[in-house]
Amino acid sequence: MYIDFNLAGLELTFLCDWAILHLIQTIFGMESAMDNLAPVSQVDALEFLRPILSGLSKEDLEELALAAVELSYPAGAVIIREGDEGDAVYFIVDGSVEVVKQYADGSERFLHTSGPGEPFGEMALLQEGGRTATVRAVEPSTILRIDRDPFLNVLGRSPSLGVHVLVRLTGRLSHSDQQSIKELSERNVELAEANQRLARLDKTKSDFIQVSAHELRTPVAALLGYAQMMEQHPKAQKDPGLRALTEGVVTSTKRLHRVFNSILDVSRLVSGDLEVLRSPFSIGVTLEAVQLRIEKALEERQLTMELVGLDALPICSGDPDLIYKLFDHLVNNAIKYTPDGGRITVIGRTVEVDGLGPCVEVAIEDTGIGIAPQDIDLIFEKFYRTGEVALHSSGTTKFKGGGPGLGLAIAQGIVLAHGGRIWAESPGCDEESCPGSRFVVQLPLDTSMP
Ligand code: ADP
Repeated sequence: MYIDFNLAGLELTFLCDWAILHLIQTIFGMESAMDNLAPVSQVDALEFLRPILSGLSKEDLEELALAAVELSYPAGAVIIREGDEGDAVYFIVDGSVEVVKQYADGSERFLHTSGPGEPFGEMALLQEGGRTATVRAVEPSTILRIDRDPFLNVLGRSPSLGVHVLVRLTGRLSHSDQQSIKELSERNVELAEANQRLARLDKTKSDFIQVSAHELRTPVAALLGYAQMMEQHPKAQKDPGLRALTEGVVTSTKRLHRVFNSILDVSRLVSGDLEVLRSPFSIGVTLEAVQLRIEKALEERQLTMELVGLDALPICSGDPDLIYKLFDHLVNNAIKYTPDGGRITVIGRTVEVDGLGPCVEVAIEDTGIGIAPQDIDLIFEKFYRTGEVALHSSGTTKFKGGGPGLGLAIAQGIVLAHGGRIWAESPGCDEESCPGSRFVVQLPLDTSMP
């Protein structure tokens, strides 16, 4: 409640609520948070606001001054708390305040400081929303508080106050833009440095894998040679027990040799050392060769494999050995991830692809377990395998037979080295309903080929 006294042309204003409160506190000697509340004489508030809100009419300035309440805050006191209702605007008379944003984890982000003559708190007031930041006194500070209603009253009729608020808000927005851009650039630099560190670590790891695979492959090749000689030895041939043992050694050593070869293939693909020796080749013939190699596995697993439209494809240009490896990996995967009795279909056609021109497209479709959406891109990463590694069985063509997780990385590297594209499609992974997978390869056609 406000009571105005007009005495001899002098307008004295008292804040009645404050006076009553102060009286009670004086009588009872009470100390409370309201101790920092004191009315400002109209002259002081007027004199203070006049230069800050230059251009405002005398009446408007007087109305604001009349509504102003002076508050004192010790250093560290919270003046506005984030989330509170925006019920007033503040002007710093002396001292300074800091504006901070609080995060859910309790941490704070410093936004800016304001000093004498600067207003704060007008944003929430205009938006009719809660406070979006906390304002704290940095040092003992004196603040003028003007309640929402009188401030909006004057704002409603004074374009000059509107301009003041607008200039202030745009200034603050541009300052916060600059700050965000600065922080973003700093984060970018940190990210770039972290990326460089990661790239160095990745290279060290790749080098280590490559050197190890290379060093290990040589003795394994020798071991394989000796094991095969043992397998052929008349003593082993005659003794069924010995023959079974030597066969086991040969099979396992071959597998080990294949793994080291795959690791070296991937290393070469990643480092760009892979040489593509181009010559004409037929996709149909390549896939027939693959089919021939896995004939036994298809029979064992009661899988059918059908080649569709491959004979009609034009002759392509590429590295026949690498292209064989590519389709061998893809068909082998189709066998591994399709339960017994399933179907594998390889469909070829020519297509026009944006950015690549005329291409041969080969799709390898299976009726297997499929691939989960979250894995569909990751499976092309080297050493990436879906599901529990320990649950994989170890046969190369057995259902869910384990591998080192390199087949698709090699396949992708070969396709990229030929300037093509490869991707996987699947409705999802389900071992019960077997939704199947589809791997698509597009290889650009060399138009100079007959
Ligand atoms: P791996 O040696 O494990 O077979 P790959 O790089 O060939 O490695 O394949 C990576 C992963 O992609 C596999 O572990 C498997 O989860 C998934 N995958 C590949 N081909 C198929 C397919 N035809 N059907 C379902 N999943 C597949």
